[in-house]
Amino acid sequence: MKKIAILGSTGSIGTQTLDVVRHNDNLQVLAISAGSNIKVLEAQAREFSPKMIAVWQEDKAAELRVMLADMDVKIVSGMEGLLELAVLENVEILVTAIVGMIGIQPTIAAIKAGKHIALANKETLVTAGHIIMPLAKEHHVDILPVDSEHSAIFQALHGEKDNKIEKLLITASGGPFRGRTKEQLADVRKEDALKHPNWAMGQKITIDSATLVNKGLEVMEAKWLFGVDLDRIQVVVQPQSIIHSMVQFEDGSVMAQLGTPDMRLPIQYALYYPNRRYLGGERLDFGKLAQITFENPDMDTFKGLPMAMQAARIGGSMPTVFNAANEKAVAKFLNNEIRFLDIYEMIGEAMAMHQCVENPTVEEILRTEEEVYQWIESRW
Ligand code: NDP
Repeated sequence: MKKIAILGSTGSIGTQTLDVVRHNDNLQVLAISAGSNIKVLEAQAREFSPKMIAVWQEDKAAELRVMLADMDVKIVSGMEGLLELAVLENVEILVTAIVGMIGIQPTIAAIKAGKHIALANKETLVTAGHIIMPLAKEHHVDILPVDSEHSAIFQALHGEKDNKIEKLLITASGGPFRGRTKEQLADVRKEDALKHPNWAMGQKITIDSATLVNKGLEVMEAKWLFGVDLDRIQVVVQPQSIIHSMVQFEDGSVMAQLGTPDMRLPIQYALYYPNRRYLGGERLDFGKLAQITFENPDMDTFKGLPMAMQAARIGGSMPTVFNAANEKAVAKFLNNEIRFLDIYEMIGEAMAMHQCVENPTVEEILRTEEEVYQWIESRW
């Protein structure tokens, strides 16, 4: 029985992870967690019988204790609760399906406790990759990518340990606004931005796909995960989302991973790595597949990608600023407070005002996040 814990079990990745558990008989969920969604947590607790549940909001944790009074489960709250969950005894893999930089500290605690990480929470590597990757090496812990693009690269690299990578090719769908001009983006609404052509995901990441910020975050993540320089990471738009990413080796050979867009595949691969298991669902039908096309990303219109590359090149605390400003901007866009293109303005201004800190500590990363939040609140 493989024992796992999930940070963010009520979200898009969290619920799909539980679906993978549901369809396998040798996975056991020892702990689940969420920000405030106790209704879903209650249902998950009754189905999966975890030993611990972490709820961010203390009042919600108290409510859940009453709701689950008939069950033998420890309910904890706040950061202390997340940290307790991260190091829970007997857990082998921690799935980090939580959204935001709040994932950094529990991930560090889990690595120190020797837990392997099935990593979905991209903010962890984007902002603290320089801390996480050496720490994982020191503690002999695997960082198993859940993001479909990184999982594709991870799969393509299997058995290629001693072979030199020439280039990573990260594919992008281009999002719902692919092909539009800046003028056409001026008045787009959140309902339009939330219509991803191929993937069903959480709201924040869906907006990030529309701005290409998500692709920028993925480039930063790939740099840390695979130890490849930014100059050797290329983004290619592949609108049908069939090729999930590729690796080009020094002999020019390109290895790709293909499949229908289904996050359960990379989740299951991370949980059973290096083995594959049966996974139900749609299969690619090459006889019917009309076309797989490629194009370069429109970096002039969708500035999220070049801005992310700039933040990554500067390094230090700048990726944190990029990420924090984007988080605030997306929240404001979803709240109808700003327009779509203001997201880029907000990120650009936050990056311009920041005094970069080299090799920031976790405290400096979190302080930078807070400063960016406050600055944006005072300015916009
Ligand atoms: P969702 O918004 O769907 O879910 C986020 C989860 O985090 C929810 O369970 C939420 O709980 C929980 N959460 C939020 N704040 C806290 C908190 N303070 N304490 C504890 N739990 C909290 O996000 P996604 O599943 O889409 O994404 C999760 C992460 O995975 C993100 O970093 C994203 O970038 C990454 N990712 C997502 C992919 C996808 O397909 N969705 C693909 C690749 C990566 P509650 O329900 O109570 O709010």
